[in-house]
Parts: sequence; C-alpha cells; structure tokens
Amino acid sequence: MVIPSFCTTFLGSCVLVLAVCRSAAGGASWTYTGDHGQEHWPDSFPDCGGTSQSPINLKTWNAVHDGSLPPIQPVGYRTPDDSTFTLANNGHTVKLSLPSSMRLIGLPNNYTAAQLHLHWGSEEHPGGAEHYIDDQEYPAELHIVHYNSDAGKINDVKDKPNGLAVLGILIATGPRSNPGFANIINHLGRVSYAEQSVPIPSFNIEDLLPSNLDRYFRYSGSLTTPPCSQSVVWTVFSNPVQISESQMETLRTTLHSTPMNRPPAVLENNVRHIQPVNYRTVYVSFVMEKGLSAGKFLLFFITSSM
Ligand SMILES: [Zn+2]
Repeated sequence: MVIPSFCTTFLGSCVLVLAVCRSAAGGASWTYTGDHGQEHWPDSFPDCGGTSQSPINLKTWNAVHDGSLPPIQPVGYRTPDDSTFTLANNGHTVKLSLPSSMRLIGLPNNYTAAQLHLHWGSEEHPGGAEHYIDDQEYPAELHIVHYNSDAGKINDVKDKPNGLAVLGILIATGPRSNPGFANIINHLGRVSYAEQSVPIPSFNIEDLLPSNLDRYFRYSGSLTTPPCSQSVVWTVFSNPVQISESQMETLRTTLHSTPMNRPPAVLENNVRHIQPVNYRTVYVSFVMEKGLSAGKFLLFFITSSM
C-alpha cells in the first residue's frame, strides 16, 4: 500500500510537534527575549551565569600584546573534501556543516572544523555582531567552530577547557556584493523555516575570512548560546569583512525561528548581550592600534592643553 503524500507530511508534522514538546518539557528550550530569554538562561543552564562568558567588548587599549601569537593558518579551507555542505536553519541561526578535512594551525592544539553559523540584528536594531571592538558594534558576525581533535571527538570536548576554538569574523556593510558570502546567502530561501536543511555546493571557506589573519584578539570565553560552556579559545579578527546592504537585508529578513507549520516569526536579533570581562586578560597579536590609541591620546592631551 502506498501512503498518500499528504499522510506522510501529516505524520511528519506529528513527530515534529512531539519533539518540540519534549524539548520544552525537558527545560532545554531557550530564546533571546521573553520568558526563556537570555536573562533567564542561567536558571536552566548554570554556566551562562559563569565568570568567563562571551561575547565581550574587546578594548584595544586594555589588551596585552603577545608577540608570540602566530598568524592563523586555515588548512583545507580552499578545497573542502566534500562536494556539498549541509545548510540548516535550527531556529536560532543558519548553520553550515564543515568537513573534518578543514582545520587550523596557529593554536596550541590541533583544532578540526565542525560548523559555521551567523549572528545578525534587524532593521530596527542593525547592530547584530556579538563582539564589539572598542565599543564599536558591527551589523553581523560569523563564527567558525572547531574542536580540539587531539583531545577527542566534539561531543567529548565541547564543554572542556580549551575544547573549542572559534574564529569570530565581524561583518560590515558596503556597496559591493561579497561573492564568498553569496555562497550561503543565496540559499537562505531554501531553509526559510526552522528545522529545514538542504545540501549546497561546497566552496572556498577562506573567501569568508578577512585579509589580515595575523591581526586578532585572543581570549578564553564561552559559547554565546546555551549551555554557554566556558570551553572556547576565541580568536576575533580585528578587520571586518564586508557584504552588501542587499545581502545583509536578505540575512535579516529571509529566515524564521519557527517551523513551517507554526505561526511564522522572523529569525532576527540572535545576539547575546556583552558579558563582563572580569579577571580575564585579552591578548592581541598586533601593536599598531595601541600606538594609534596612544597617539590619539597624546594629540588630545596637546590640543586640550593649548
Ligand atoms: Zn555563534
């Protein structure tokens, strides 16, 4: 007997609804605002109330220069092993799975790529990056997540100290379309609703990175979403990448945080608030901004004394 397609769809919806209910009953659901919003995350996820949380405001003048920090060297980013990547809307972000042939050199351990995803704002609140640099808020941020493959599989290490290494790439807007980001943004309409996923052609992930991989901030922090595990070696590049206003608009308006069979809600403002730095030291791989900051201060001092 062949089950008519509408029955298959109907049964599929039932499974989906049950899965969502079970998640809510287990206390594992979370949102950015409202009853399960970020102020309430520590109630269900204690690490979210920890003292080494992310994101933070990266302050050049307060960062410690570490001349031993080498340039980040991506390996296997240019020609990924897989011919396709899986693009998925998980209701919190859009996520691209990455092959284990991609890894990083320039960190104390071998870190293997797992996935990348984005954070963004909305038309009303265009500041959508999670990290700030010197109080400056960018429109969006890309996170490329890697795990310490010397220590085990991702599920073994994702909540352990230094278990993850995340590259943070700040995204600005400008007049020109970014062909690297077009590889993702042009497919967003195919995962418009939560829990949808599609294969997309693989592409050169280095095209998503800024030009100066030797200029970055380094600090110990956390996942910026529950369970907020304090397991992340953060590398946030000081130079943003640029996408067009039109690409940013597509990112802000195409996705929903809700599955197809529920009342639609736009997926926007998936941004955690800035967290206290507390006792942590933020290291910086370069010196020029510190020199400029000192120069600006000197200029201010001279002109205000005249
Ligand atoms: Zn993220």
